[in-house]
Amino acid sequence: MNGFKDKLINFFRQRYGIDELYKFLLTMFIIIWVLNIFIRSTILYWLNLLICFFIIYRMFSKNVYKRQKENIKFLRIKDKLKGKVKLSRRKWKDRKTHIYRKCPNCKAEVRLPKKKGKHVCTCPNCKKDFNVKC
Ligand SMILES: [Zn+2]
Repeated sequence: MNGFKDKLINFFRQRYGIDELYKFLLTMFIIIWVLNIFIRSTILYWLNLLICFFIIYRMFSKNVYKRQKENIKFLRIKDKLKGKVKLSRRKWKDRKTHIYRKCPNCKAEVRLPKKKGKHVCTCPNCKKDFNVKC
């Protein structure tokens, strides 16, 4: 059978399809679209059109390797942001009992019990001592 259905299946077989970046872009598209019902901004309208084109372009792209690379890049940024949000949440949660300092040697964020005055701390990451003032 060499009908329209086969042609359609063949067309979609070699295309990239959807991924995490697609889901994010679609969410952004919907948010901006709803927002723009109230705001009616020309810039948002064009931005959304651009996102829409990008979504369609990525979905039907045959360059799977490049699209996967884009997705990996996106996931890396997402994970970084997620980690930052998590850390600032934790900082806020124990702001009365702990302080957070960056180790001057390895730049790692160190969580320390809140004690008044000057102290010497040992970084758990690189095992070097550094001074802390609270
Ligand atoms: Zn360190």
